[in-house]
Amino acid sequence: MRARPGQRSGEDLRGAAGARSADDRLPAAARELGLPSARLVADGLPYGDWLVAVFERWRSARPRETRVRLFNEIIRQLCGSPSRSESIGLAPVAVVVVETDGGIEQIDTLKSAYDGATRTPLHVLRNSFDEALFEPAIVARQIGRDALSETCLSCDLAGICGGGLYPHRYRSGSGFRNPSVYSRDLYRLITHIRSALREELAAPASRPSPAEA
Ligand code: SF4
Repeated sequence: MRARPGQRSGEDLRGAAGARSADDRLPAAARELGLPSARLVADGLPYGDWLVAVFERWRSARPRETRVRLFNEIIRQLCGSPSRSESIGLAPVAVVVVETDGGIEQIDTLKSAYDGATRTPLHVLRNSFDEALFEPAIVARQIGRDALSETCLSCDLAGICGGGLYPHRYRSGSGFRNPSVYSRDLYRLITHIRSALREELAAPASRPSPAEA
């Protein structure tokens, strides 16, 4: 399921119906190619507002219709567990791709940042997978907070958001040490889910909380 601001949240969830789970990812958008932040400021928070509407639709469904990984991972982290997704949080990325020519590369989502972003000098005929852990570009995805921008380090949600999906942080000149191009949308979504969770935990036990999803 792709974030599509402007489409009704109910339609989006019904579009995902039939699938027991959905991975709700924001579109690939390198900072200088994708969503200019000026447009986000001018238009409000189209993705954040859309995701909040989908979350509320998802939260109110009885029985639960679809597992939405982004929501589940945010809730898991708010409850103190580590993220299991590269889209959100500070958990190290422990995946590499072996291309058809034997090259060991980083995962495909990084291709949206710039041409060649996934490449490493490693090859399965010459190198072990453990050697990939010493590649600087891969190390950067293992060190959690140390890879975050100053803006993210001063953000009260850094431990939950983790700067967002790694490719969404790229900007030529400063590389990946930037907040996500969707920073304000992520902030909106995470604070909304946090409020919803607090509300559910404070309420009488009349219905399942989002944490039961
Ligand atoms: S919400 Fe924005 S500033 Fe805060 S950690 Fe996420 S990307 Fe960084």
